[in-house]
Amino acid sequence: MSDISKDARICIIGAGPAGLSAGMYLEQKGYENYTILEREDHVGGKCHSPEYNGRRYEMGAIMGVPSYYAVHDIEKFCGFTHDGPKLNRNYKNLKGDVIEPFDPKKNPLRVPHLLKMRSQMKKFAELLETKYKGYDINGHRGVSEGRYDGYAVTPEREKVSGVNENLKDLALPFNEFCRINGVDLVKEIWIGPFTSFGYGYFDEIPAAYVLKYLDFQTTMNFVNVNLWTWKDGTQSIYERLNAKLKHAARLNSNITKVERKDDKVFVTVNGEVEEYDYIIVTAPLQYLPDYFDADANEKELFSKITYEMYDVLAFTTKPEDHPEISYYIFENMEKERYGHLMVYYRRWHDDNTQMLTTYALRNHTGDPEIPYDTCKETVLEDLKEMHNPAEKVHYEKDWYYFPHVDSKTYASGWYEKVEGMQGNKNTFYAGEVMSFGDMDETCEYSRELVDRFF
Ligand SMILES: Cc1cc2nc3c(=O)[nH]c(=O)nc-3n(C[C@H](O)[C@H](O)[C@H](O)COP(=O)(O)OP(=O)(O)OC[C@H]3O[C@@H](n4cnc5c(N)ncnc54)[C@H](O)[C@@H]3O)c2cc1C
Repeated sequence: MSDISKDARICIIGAGPAGLSAGMYLEQKGYENYTILEREDHVGGKCHSPEYNGRRYEMGAIMGVPSYYAVHDIEKFCGFTHDGPKLNRNYKNLKGDVIEPFDPKKNPLRVPHLLKMRSQMKKFAELLETKYKGYDINGHRGVSEGRYDGYAVTPEREKVSGVNENLKDLALPFNEFCRINGVDLVKEIWIGPFTSFGYGYFDEIPAAYVLKYLDFQTTMNFVNVNLWTWKDGTQSIYERLNAKLKHAARLNSNITKVERKDDKVFVTVNGEVEEYDYIIVTAPLQYLPDYFDADANEKELFSKITYEMYDVLAFTTKPEDHPEISYYIFENMEKERYGHLMVYYRRWHDDNTQMLTTYALRNHTGDPEIPYDTCKETVLEDLKEMHNPAEKVHYEKDWYYFPHVDSKTYASGWYEKVEGMQGNKNTFYAGEVMSFGDMDETCEYSRELVDRFF
């Protein structure tokens, strides 16, 4: 039973998936005195679905899987469902030829390799169930100490906790994690929904992030294209939620100062000071010291957060250059090819005048950052190589993407330290870095935060 009173005044910073779902879960638990402050003139954050010729497209989040239980909670709360176009895709090589790398009939010479890969997949599934029991629960509490503590990835989300020393391996970069377990070939499956979705390269990203997002079940949903989309875009999930909440987000809120004193939180919004009892921050924690009275721990820990630079272009082609499906280019997902086109997405099945979207990463640990314009040029050149040249670019976005910490910081107990600060100075931390940069993981973390502390 929480000792936070039901009429506590709660400020939530950010009206993306994490902030709006925090509002929903608070409301469902009887905490109705909340205020959501959003800097932009719209809600949704990285779920951003602009309109073109009467249809909505995705410049941010695109899809979900059946185990997106928190997103399902929102659908139920608001009364809608995932009604978007079915996803399908194919693969191309660097010359722009269509390839089918996983089909043994099309690749007789690769059969021994594919068989080896299949046997490593089986081994990996067993290892995850046994040696790494507890690997897939949301959030990172205890992992670097060889514990798991959270909620199962099931519709019921039962509370689970336990000791498992092997979980410490999750701090290793995913390459290293696969090597020590003798399952290097599984990366050929995991790379598609990981690197091309902007989450970085396997030589740098701790296995914990890879596997908490792409647990075995979720990866199989990607393999079998058992995926959800929304007709009006992922942004519409959060627009509907915002419309249903007792208190819609206050847009265009410019927060210049947050001061915590006398057991209260004072937030300066558009020049006026507002008083709250608690604050939940879902905006990037890396930038919290810019406007908070951050203490030494907050400054030190949040300065360790790093992120990916993920660029999206929305373009149209001449009708004769229009692709018939979405394409993945595996060779461009290797770190040596950062800054190149990794995927392009064709959303609707019936229209060759629609916008298509491209995805590229332009940073890699230890290498120089590629400037935005250089990356854009490269992607447009790559589209020509793929035989689908762009005629006109309509929208572009360079995202602050997938905030996370590196392997060393992870292993040194970053999450245990930040989790240990939850509630100090009437402040709670949520949003992407606390779990993982996808819609469900962030909403699920907000659910758990409300369950644990309110
Ligand atoms: C190109 C792309 C593709 C993606 N694909 C998928 C996908 O297919 N499936 C999936 O599940 N996820 C996907 N994601 C990730 C998903 O969109 C994010 O993980 C999710 O939106 C994170 O939610 P959040 O609320 O933590 O953060 P955000 O969505 O970033 O929202 C944060 C909000 O806080 C606001 N804010 C920031 N600073 C302040 C401040 N100082 N004051 C007030 N407000 C502030 C922002 O304006 C924003 O509205 C994708 C993202 C991108 C960019």
